[in-house]
Amino acid sequence: MPELPEVETIKNELLPYIIGHRITGITLFWDRIVRQPSVEEFCSRLVGQRITGVARRGKYLILDLTSDETLIIHLKMSGSLLLKPVSAEPDKFIRAILYLDKGTRLLFRDPRKLGAMWLVEDKNTIVGKLGPEPLEADFTPQLLAQRLNNRIAPIKAILCDQSFIAGIGNMYADEALFAARIHPLRSGKSLSKDEITRLHRSIQQVLWSAINDKGASVDTYFRPGGEVGTAHFQFQVAHYLSGKFCPVCGTAIERLPIRNRGSYFCPKCQPEV
Ligand SMILES: [Zn+2]
Repeated sequence: MPELPEVETIKNELLPYIIGHRITGITLFWDRIVRQPSVEEFCSRLVGQRITGVARRGKYLILDLTSDETLIIHLKMSGSLLLKPVSAEPDKFIRAILYLDKGTRLLFRDPRKLGAMWLVEDKNTIVGKLGPEPLEADFTPQLLAQRLNNRIAPIKAILCDQSFIAGIGNMYADEALFAARIHPLRSGKSLSKDEITRLHRSIQQVLWSAINDKGASVDTYFRPGGEVGTAHFQFQVAHYLSGKFCPVCGTAIERLPIRNRGSYFCPKCQPEV
């Protein structure tokens, strides 16, 4: 699933191709990709507008438009935004095409059909409840400590909660916890000051490293030009199957289901204390 580094990469790589461009048409092959307003209204209000800004908030891509409305896109489990098809074959997974002036096309590819688009006057109706951005200056160890205070849920589940911190999902939560040597089932409030400092640093390190590697193509993620990202080659535990070994101590990586998602961790480096 695209997480912060993948959506940040998509934003960075799309921006020069779409900023300032006018939307001249839209074709939908899967109407339910439009969540708000109705499909008819979405298309009629979108066409003719120029894209004036491209930003990311959490895992959402945010396109500002001349009408002061905002087009918000979420790629969910399997979405990609492509400037051209990933192969010369007709691609049955393209769910929408946005036609821009000067011949640019933006293809929304989404094998699992869970992706979503909203056209809204106030973007906060969609992204207003997100927690802090982990790579912004206001995300400090002190803020993380404050927000963990009294949280009894497993730290793994807390990190994946978008209202707690924006943009982290299963892969980068596992990587950050491994780097910080914290067991995924530890409760939020049980973390010491040192552990919180380590976790804060680990979160920022794994996210920056993955952005530098243009995201992780473990599944269906492609960059806008059709290339893959290479961040998954740096993964220490995420997406391992049981039976692989910890790159630090050689112990077998274990898998635990937490809130219906597999969590990978090293039982020796990340002891459950
Ligand atoms: Zn280990």
